[in-house]
Amino acid sequence: MKPLLRLNLLLICSLLICACAAPSKRASVSAQAAKGQIDSAALSRTPEPQAQDPLAKRRPRDLTVRILLAEKQKSALIKHTGKVYIYTLNLDKKYKISAPGTLSVKALGGGKIQVGTLQSAKTIVLEPALNTLLVWNKNSYSGKIYIIPAGNTFHLVEHAPLETYLYGVLPYEMSYSWPLEALKAQAVAARTYTLKTLESVKNQNFDLFSDVRSQMYKGGGKQYDSVKKAVDGTRGEVLTYQDKLFFTYYHANCGGGTDDVRSWNPGTASIKPLSGASCKTDSHSKSYKWQMSISRAKVENYAKSVGLSGSLKSIKIARKTDTGRATNLTIRTSKGSKTVPCGKFRLATGIRSCKITKLSVRKKEVYFEGKGYGHGIGMCQDGAHGMAQDGKNYKKILKNYYPGSEIKNLSNYYGI
Ligand SMILES: [Zn+2]
Repeated sequence: MKPLLRLNLLLICSLLICACAAPSKRASVSAQAAKGQIDSAALSRTPEPQAQDPLAKRRPRDLTVRILLAEKQKSALIKHTGKVYIYTLNLDKKYKISAPGTLSVKALGGGKIQVGTLQSAKTIVLEPALNTLLVWNKNSYSGKIYIIPAGNTFHLVEHAPLETYLYGVLPYEMSYSWPLEALKAQAVAARTYTLKTLESVKNQNFDLFSDVRSQMYKGGGKQYDSVKKAVDGTRGEVLTYQDKLFFTYYHANCGGGTDDVRSWNPGTASIKPLSGASCKTDSHSKSYKWQMSISRAKVENYAKSVGLSGSLKSIKIARKTDTGRATNLTIRTSKGSKTVPCGKFRLATGIRSCKITKLSVRKKEVYFEGKGYGHGIGMCQDGAHGMAQDGKNYKKILKNYYPGSEIKNLSNYYGI
């Protein structure tokens, strides 16, 4: 078959798929295919469930993850290091720029946007050619960036393959200079967390935030050798418990022991992998023990936000776990007292953890001493670092912090 004829057939087939498929993501894949840009693997990514495995029934909505880079923007400059395709989702308008340059993106008002010379009220896609990166806000992206009109603003959402997404998560959730086995444990935890998140996405435009609301992400374009080794070396591997994915929470430092997920979020059902684990390898970190002061005003503002006004008199630990992590604090002011979840207090005031070992209300400030950094659920990253330095591999690390969990490889039916 002549190459031109083959391309035309691909075009016709792709447009047929496009016409039949309702979800916008399928349409976008087809649009890409229609331009002859897509690799055939991407079109055949419908997983083939294996009936004997309960996990096979679960299917993330797509292997491409959609990451919200920014919302409600009025303007943006997006650099492209090589050839880039610019098109509306239904391909009624399209063009390409072959040389490196910078594209100006503007909200025109009334639901319209302009990208370079193209104006539209529909989503516009920037698709980098192979080996081209899109650079926005100093971060490099190798996936497609969707510019989605939203009233007088627009959202920026990257569509990237799951494994590429992980290249852009690991260096910001754990240092790329850390031992490989710790990075591999992080790769499996982050992959599992991502796939679990995909099971219950509600937003029609994106699956994941690019910050702590999901996982830190600054683009998969800048690739570190160690990170690539960790992600590629665990390709498709996830953690399961009773054949189900679970939220593989992780945090910086547990202060010598992690806790049951219910201590942090009482509404969550506890499962064995999230029921707490010992940690003997995190004391090398400066997060292990800390002291800090916060202003009385900060505490009073938080108290006010939960309905307790007045000037601060005392704070007491109302309840704590066996590892010493406070689950509830009682705040007393001149107007009364209130018992609050420590996790919420921590997020509002910035104390490093709820493993509080000393607490005193002083004239102008509240003084804390404590252990650990973060919520203390799931994998302790400093502990993983310590275990890796002690010669433990990533499987041992994961077994320690998620007891009772199993590693499964999903490559077969997710096409990862
Ligand atoms: Zn720890």
